[in-house]
Amino acid sequence: MLIRWLIIIIVGFFIFRLLRRLFASPKLPDRKSPREIQDEMVQDPVCKVYLPKRQANVLKSPKGVYYYFCSTQCREKFIKEVKNRGSA
Ligand SMILES: [Zn+2]
Repeated sequence: MLIRWLIIIIVGFFIFRLLRRLFASPKLPDRKSPREIQDEMVQDPVCKVYLPKRQANVLKSPKGVYYYFCSTQCREKFIKEVKNRGSA
């Protein structure tokens, strides 16, 4: 009779674990997904606004430095300022 109870407990435990895994699995891949890396925040050097990297207008300077802007206007403004200063 004790073995029967043990089997019930073990089977119940595995069913519980399986159910927990089923409910927990959709959350697990989101923890360190490439999507999160894409959502990294960057600062617009013109208007100082923070925005997600994937939404930003990217500018690569001749030195290989990347600049991120909230809009093409900010990007154009930055390019003009850099030209006036003569450095990037
Ligand atoms: Zn801006």
